[in-house]
Amino acid sequence: GVSEETSGRSEYNLRSPICCIMGHVDTGKTKLLDCIRGTNVQQGEAGGITQQIGATYFPAENIRQRTKELKADANLKVPGLLVIDTPGHESFTNLRSRGSGLCDIAILVVDIMHGLERQTIESLNLLKMRNTNFVIALNKVDRLYGWKACHNASIVKAMKEQSRDVQFEFRTRLTQVVTEFKEQGINTELYYKNKNMGKDTFSIVPTSAISGEGIPDLLLLLVQWTAKTMAARLAYSNEVQCTVLEVKVVEGHGTTIDVILVNGELHEGDQIVVCGMQGPIVTSIRALLTPDPMKELRVKGSYEHHKKIKAAQGIKINAQGLEHAIAGTSLYVMGPDDDAEDIKEAVMEDMRSVMGRVNKC
Ligand code: GDP
Repeated sequence: GVSEETSGRSEYNLRSPICCIMGHVDTGKTKLLDCIRGTNVQQGEAGGITQQIGATYFPAENIRQRTKELKADANLKVPGLLVIDTPGHESFTNLRSRGSGLCDIAILVVDIMHGLERQTIESLNLLKMRNTNFVIALNKVDRLYGWKACHNASIVKAMKEQSRDVQFEFRTRLTQVVTEFKEQGINTELYYKNKNMGKDTFSIVPTSAISGEGIPDLLLLLVQWTAKTMAARLAYSNEVQCTVLEVKVVEGHGTTIDVILVNGELHEGDQIVVCGMQGPIVTSIRALLTPDPMKELRVKGSYEHHKKIKAAQGIKINAQGLEHAIAGTSLYVMGPDDDAEDIKEAVMEDMRSVMGRVNKC
């Protein structure tokens, strides 16, 4: 074990939780991501939201601003929330970081008009298998007949504005969904009534990805709950935990890997070991890249260079010899005292487990 001092671990020094969006096709996963990312951007108050490689970063301050009416505790404890941009399968089924799932928490999206569907149940099984916590976004509430739009309002406030008929239809459909989850062995409850959250009852947040109702509730729930219940997992550590999302050829940069740095810090020049088709790839980081934050000016392939980057973040890494790197595996940093053979062995172990999963699919 690494001592608390050398690892930098402490309950006061938490990294941002990493969140994935899952659910059946057409339930609104992409739209929901656009909505949580875009509403404020369009109003010219992006509030520090940054587009990263493979992910979007929401600083805690931005979330606090957007959830004012919910009277959140001023101290959210985590620096922000990192949401993986590719909703759906890959980020969950194959991607992991050293033995545990890449995501600390997931949003399971369910269409209120359709209830549980085939891929909802598949996602649910994955979540159970990985023992990953999740919140349910019961999306498309605006499709309830006669819904009165209350743009970006908390769901409690929006619900009060609705007619009796809408409220009745909502309750009927909610009850149906709760029953369907029960049939899958999962207890669920509206989030603001859920006293057993995190114990044995999962929370439901009604949302609309079109008019934004319930989005503040969803964001706040994600950061508050992760900070409260996952302090140990989210403790910042100097030990690098990093997962390869994608291997890409980029003009002017050659073959690069897009990674999610889950914990620790990466530096230009770090010796790294990545899993390759023909065995472990030992190389050194030539460049640590993030998208240029000046979005309007962003030319395709315009990146900012960093000497070092601290978790949790989405990063593009440029290094020699990455052509045969394999997505879904872990990246290791070689320390001065590390034995190269041990690390190579760990890397290949990782690959065997990823391949094992691929073959089963
Ligand atoms: P995905 O396949 O889960 O990523 O679903 P999309 O985000 O692509 O959404 C599928 C369709 O549902 C699109 O036509 C969206 O515009 C629509 N949609 C998504 N969310 C909502 C919502 O909250 N309300 C309504 N009315 N339509 C939505």
